Amino acid sequence: MTTALITHPDCLGHVNPPGHPERVERLQAIAAALEGEEFAYLVRVEAPLAEDTQILRAHPAGYLASLAERLPERSFAALDADTFLCPGSLAAARRAAGAVVQGVDMVMAGEVRNAFCAVRPPGHHAETETPMGFCLLGNAVIGARHALEAHGLARVAIVDFDVHHGNGTQDLVWNDARILFASTQQMPLYPGTGAASERGAHGQIVNVPLPPGAGGAEFRAAFGAKVLPALEAHAPELVVISAGFDAHHRDPLANLNLREADFAWGRAEICALADRHAAGRVVSTLEGGYDLGALAASVAAHVRVLMERGHG
Ligand SMILES: [Zn+2]
Repeated sequence: MTTALITHPDCLGHVNPPGHPERVERLQAIAAALEGEEFAYLVRVEAPLAEDTQILRAHPAGYLASLAERLPERSFAALDADTFLCPGSLAAARRAAGAVVQGVDMVMAGEVRNAFCAVRPPGHHAETETPMGFCLLGNAVIGARHALEAHGLARVAIVDFDVHHGNGTQDLVWNDARILFASTQQMPLYPGTGAASERGAHGQIVNVPLPPGAGGAEFRAAFGAKVLPALEAHAPELVVISAGFDAHHRDPLANLNLREADFAWGRAEICALADRHAAGRVVSTLEGGYDLGALAASVAAHVRVLMERGHG
């Protein structure tokens, strides 16, 4: 039992306009960081295209059709001020969602203990019928619902430590008591949601806002006090991590001051919880992280923890 690294070249085919922070080079930096000998034992898997039935567990058919209709034959189509489609975007988005589905299938089959999906576009800002914040499909939720519907699990958790609130994930799971959504984010910051008072229809959403300037100590204290007890109470049979790394102190899009060790600490805590409740099953998927060096180092630290726990 070990760790899967799931990605696909199509994820490089989603291109944003020049100067956009969510760029192809992010995945190239991650690929380079995971080339070393210490990562030789990763089970490297190509992501399948998510099927319509899998996507429709999170989004209505009309939304998926509208993305296809708005796909440009060349150049870009703007969906909002910072979310774009290019000719390759829908294939990339289907690979990104398909990667999480594949990760769920692999951990459920016991082929690997955990997985990291190195994919783009990210997903946690995509609402039920609205693309936004660089995101087209709710990758994490599509994976979580696949675990519930196709594998018969009763309880899943999605933990989101991207510096921005996962408003899309929250929107998609608001009424779903089976999915605990726990999220730390800087506040105030885009997209403006994520206050502690936002709890979901069943009290199964846990938002932990952090003030600008907060660092590892504040993150660990808040995570330990709010997120871990909620996870423990939910007793998830699978944990999906929305793995954004833009809370890093070098990230240009936000003002938290986390370091690689803080991400690794959070990951180890989640893995320990998954060991207790979920036979170690953790599927993580890339969200944000826009300083290429910080992103590469943080992902390496993240995958290192998954590999250490993968042998547990
Ligand atoms: Zn982010």
